[in-house]
Amino acid sequence: MAEVRARVDFKVGANSSIDAELLSFHGLKTEKEHVAVIFKHADQTQQSPLVRMHSECLTGDVFHSSRCDCGEQLDETINRMGESGGIILYLRQEGRGIGLYNKIDAYKLQSEGMNTYEANNHLGFGDDLRDFTEAAQMLEALGIKKIRLVTNNPKKVNDLKSYGIEIEQVVNTSAHVKEGNEGYLKAKRSHGKHNLDL
Ligand SMILES: [Zn+2]
Repeated sequence: MAEVRARVDFKVGANSSIDAELLSFHGLKTEKEHVAVIFKHADQTQQSPLVRMHSECLTGDVFHSSRCDCGEQLDETINRMGESGGIILYLRQEGRGIGLYNKIDAYKLQSEGMNTYEANNHLGFGDDLRDFTEAAQMLEALGIKKIRLVTNNPKKVNDLKSYGIEIEQVVNTSAHVKEGNEGYLKAKRSHGKHNLDL
């Protein structure tokens, strides 16, 4: 069973003004350095905390790339949880699990006309290699069995349920459409069955 390795206070968000805690773990299934960010708030006394599983996206999270909506989704989650509490499980599985360099190869194929799933398939990868087992392990280490999951992705809901986490409610995120990511979002909706209002 996974356990919390260390936890420290820090402040996050655009103005570094939101109180939160950063947690590391040991005993996770892989050596990946996943972290949890816990937002403290009065509402945190609720039995089922808001939880967002965010898979690392260097280009979106750090550089707010035009090609996806990951950075905007992360910012939205930080602001929401800053107000009402919650937990971000930040999972180090870049590019839906194929890694950064492969993602850049996939971007090149997308520039030549493929959609995000076709590009991954062309490189020999499945649609989505992300594994949420460790997210469930992290929740278990925190003693959390029932959550409200922030996502538009039905696969995340089904995966977490299969690992024994009870989903009391699914909370959708906004659609963050901008120049350059319309095709990406449409593919997520039509092929990945994301619940996106575009
Ligand atoms: Zn992204």
